[in-house]
Order: sequence, then C-alpha cells, then structure tokens
Amino acid sequence: MQAPPTARDILVLAQIVDLVREAEGATRSWIEAETGLGRAVVNDRLAEGIDLGIIEELEPVAEKGRRGRPSRSLRFRAEAGVILSACLGAGSMHAAVSDLDGEPIAKVFRNIDVSHGPETTLRLVHRTFQRLLARAGSDPGAVWGIAVGVPGPVEFSSGRVVAPPIMPGWDGFDVRSWFHERYGAPVWVDNEVNLMAFGEWARGEPQERRDLLYVKVATGIGAGLITNGHLHRGDNGAAGDIGHVHVTDDRKAVCRCGKTGCLEAVAGGWAMLNRLEVAARAGKSPYLKSLLDERGHLILSDLGHAEAHGDTIVTTMSRQNARVTGQAIAGVVNFANPGTLVLGGGVMRGTSLFFDTFRDTVLESTIELASRGLTIRPASLDFYEGAIGGALLAVEQLFRPSTMRLWLADGDPRVRVDEIHDAA
Ligand SMILES: [Zn+2]
Repeated sequence: MQAPPTARDILVLAQIVDLVREAEGATRSWIEAETGLGRAVVNDRLAEGIDLGIIEELEPVAEKGRRGRPSRSLRFRAEAGVILSACLGAGSMHAAVSDLDGEPIAKVFRNIDVSHGPETTLRLVHRTFQRLLARAGSDPGAVWGIAVGVPGPVEFSSGRVVAPPIMPGWDGFDVRSWFHERYGAPVWVDNEVNLMAFGEWARGEPQERRDLLYVKVATGIGAGLITNGHLHRGDNGAAGDIGHVHVTDDRKAVCRCGKTGCLEAVAGGWAMLNRLEVAARAGKSPYLKSLLDERGHLILSDLGHAEAHGDTIVTTMSRQNARVTGQAIAGVVNFANPGTLVLGGGVMRGTSLFFDTFRDTVLESTIELASRGLTIRPASLDFYEGAIGGALLAVEQLFRPSTMRLWLADGDPRVRVDEIHDAA
C-alpha cells in the first residue's frame, strides 16, 4: 500500500499543479528544470495529480526537427469542476458558469432589485445558477467554488455585507453561508466593482496587466483598484466606495444614502434620470417626454438614444456629470497612480460624450507624472466583466498554493470548506 502524501509532498504537488496550469505544453523534463526537483519526485507527484483528476497526460507529439523519443505534454484539467459567479448591481445581475480556468461555459443577464432584500434576491440568483448549470450540462455536485459580487461594502474574510448605503435589509447578511448551505462549496463574496476591476485586469482588452483603476458609472458609482495583481479592499472593505464622497455643498443634492452632496447624488444614473424626468415633464426635451409618456419612466439606455437625437438637455447633463466624475476620479489617480483607467457601467451604454468628457477631465486634473503613460479606455467585456472577474477570483483563491495544500490531498475543495474560508 502506498503511504499517504506528507505535507511536503502536497506542497510540491501544489507547485507542480500551478506550473501545469500556467504553462501550455508543460512536460516532465520542463517541470524538473523549472523546479530543480528530481525525476522520481516529479513522477510521483504527477501520478497523484493524474489520480486526482486534476492533471492529464496527453498523447506524445513528435517535435519537428527534434530527434529521440517524443515527449508527452501535461495539461491542467479545467473541466474537473465548475465555478458559479454572479455580479449583482442595484437593478441587474450578470451570472456565469465557468470552468476551472475561469472561461465561461454559459452566461446570462437578468434584471433584479436588491432592495427586495437578501432572501428574495439570493433565491433568484440560486435559480439562475441552477439554470446555468443545466445549460452547461453540469450538476450542482460539480461546483468547486462560488463568487458573488454585491453593490455595497463587504467584509471579504467573512463574506458578510457591511453597512451598505443602498441595500435595505442586507447589513451584516452572511451571503457566504447562504450559498454554502445550498452547494457545499467554498464561497467568496466581494463588492461588485471589485469583481469588475479584476475581470478587466485579467481578461480585458488590450491586455496590459498594469495597475488598474476601474470606475463604474451606472445607477450608482463605485471604483475598484488592482495593484500588483491584487485587489485593494481596505481595512473594512470600504475602499473604492467613491459614490458617496462629498462633491458639492448644494443641499438640494440629496443622496439615497441619506446624506447630501454625494458624487452619486450629482452624477449617478438614478440622479440623472430623476432630473431628466423633471426636465422632460417641464417640456424641455420633447424626445424624452415622448419616451416618458410611452413607458412611464426613463431608463439609462435612453440617454444614448437621446444623445444621438441631439437632445441638448441630455448632452449638457452628460458633459457636466462626466466632468464632476472625472474630477473626483482624478484625485484617486493622483494618489494611486494606475497604468490603466477603465470606465464601465450603464451610463456608458451608447453615449460616447460621457466617456470623452470624463477622459479629458481626468487628464486635465491629474498631475503630469500620474497622467504620463496613463491609458484611459471603456470597459471591454460586454458588461460581463464582473461575472468573469468573480470566476477568476474563485479560481485564484482555490489554486493559491497556500489554499491548494488544504484540499489537494482529497482532490476536492468541498471537503475542506471551513479551512479554505479561513484562508480567505
Ligand atoms: Zn450618498
């Protein structure tokens, strides 16, 4: 009978799995060269990885111009499990089922309303996950990890929502346990904009891999910062919650968080729509008035259409709001000095004016050294950056060597969920 692997064996296996995941066409001799490990050790650990279903050895392929025995290459079995991810905004959700490389297998968009509270909202997410699993041909037993983004601050280590300004009934809610009870898999919960930032950093186009600041301007406004490949969450998970920084002493700018003068109360999608409805009713925009009469309310995508119609109320407001947002973000750019600044969110849907004014304002308002070499671009992943970022976050958490050693001997992270959660 073979002896059970020691802690050191597991560490070495984790190192080898990591190499095989990252490198295409890894071979035994390449792993020996990379790690400095002897052939026997590499063979033993690879045999374990193959037994566990995490590594597969491919048929040998003869290399052109090379003599001798063709080498067999190794691959990480990304299909060994699946990841569920959902990125929840205040009024919409993007969700995906992905493989263990974070590649989406099936994805979906749905309208939601987080103000209905956690139970109603999460049941809807759960039903969406079930449908996605069915579409992907996977069963709930194949779920290796779940990532959920919410539109408010989160204590990442516990998976609880913390004092969210716009999510009634969610304060302190344990999103992690809610999903863990239903799937038995490890769960990570983060702020939605953090997931978007991570998705754009890892999979956005063009691929730059520099420090990245992601700004979402939709119903609400938020930001996420990646430095050295890691999300900056801050001490209480409040990092990036820029929608509620004070930008005006105008007491009429009442925010939905209860304060006045917040950035969101001036430039957030909800504030824009409120002001445009008032203007339309007062007869200042025939185009928006006709939409309002037809539907009873305006939605963010109306802004792009109104802009294309040359509606002056919308173009003036887009410019003003982009300017206020750009000035607030310039302060963050000066401080954090990102290489890439990405603007995403629903206000961007169809309106180029907002982006152009935002970019110009940021460049005008940042110090020369911070704007030198700064790339400013719109989000590139078709509004699925948060769902993709969530899947990648779960993969990163599962396959960090310090986490991998917890579950690798069992070949299944669902066996050690508590320890994996503690390591988050
Ligand atoms: Zn506020």
